[in-house]
Amino acid sequence: MPLPKAELHLHVEGTLEPELAFELAARNGVKLPYADTDELREAYRFQDLQSFLDLYYELMAVLRTERDFEDLANAYLARAAAQGVRHAEIFFDPQAHTSRGVEMGTVVEGLWRSLGRSVENHGVSTRLIMCFLRDRSAESAMRTLEDARPHLGRIVGVGLDSAEVGHPPVKFREVYEAAAALGLRRVAHAGEEGPPEYIGQALDVLGVERVDHGLRCVEDPALVERLVRERVPLTLCPLSNVRLRTVDTLAAHPLPAMLDAGLMCTVNSDDPAYFGGYAGDNFDAVRTTLGLSEERLRELARNSFLASFLEDDEELRQRYLAEVEAYEFP
Ligand SMILES: [Zn+2]
Repeated sequence: MPLPKAELHLHVEGTLEPELAFELAARNGVKLPYADTDELREAYRFQDLQSFLDLYYELMAVLRTERDFEDLANAYLARAAAQGVRHAEIFFDPQAHTSRGVEMGTVVEGLWRSLGRSVENHGVSTRLIMCFLRDRSAESAMRTLEDARPHLGRIVGVGLDSAEVGHPPVKFREVYEAAAALGLRRVAHAGEEGPPEYIGQALDVLGVERVDHGLRCVEDPALVERLVRERVPLTLCPLSNVRLRTVDTLAAHPLPAMLDAGLMCTVNSDDPAYFGGYAGDNFDAVRTTLGLSEERLRELARNSFLASFLEDDEELRQRYLAEVEAYEFP
């Protein structure tokens, strides 16, 4: 049995495996520029962020109907559950769909067909977080928030993702203020490729409760001290960092030093179909390559539930935490 954990940094569009991409393409009459799943899997060996993003957006063309989004989420939840994920807070990128003519309602209701039954079908509790594409305008993000209003019963919070450099958090100040006024939780990617200052901005200007990635905080000792003092959770994604060359090798990943410094780290998969593994694969990788002790792995699992947005179900959080404490490593 794998270590029970929550996944807090997961883009549902990034869980599209080549087999499902071809299945959905056939169902929707979309022609993919790849002969078969082998050739597509080969394309998944991209070399940098831009080639990843190009492929990522190209493949979204196969997602058209509610059923497509339902199937996508179900495929992820089945894989995550098999790797010990008990709770998942799932990102989606509405602008990547609305901009190609797929309506917000199709995306949210499609995902909900899966998420709404996830506890029964997969044994995984879920929350849904809507992300804004930071390389698009603040106005576009604000329109997206407006679009989402009829669906806010399904959405617990907002996030900020896509190409970070040159798109600082401050660009989205008004959008985050509006989201806060609607009672939405707030997270943002910061300090992945962008500088440590973006992490401080995400906290101070956007009021985020968790920082997605936050890896580059290690360059600023005063920032590390603040993150430790304020117990700000960081959603790290080690295999993603290696694939996107944010770190040179997994062995060079600062996770052990970050834990030693007292940072509240969690381990997540980001875009698992593209980055070489799901949540459990990331845990296995840091255990094997970074030599994390069982107590450190337990700490990561404990942090994932403490950092999750389960304030509306504290009883469930406590049950998960008890599972973590009772877990016996094989
Ligand atoms: Zn991400």
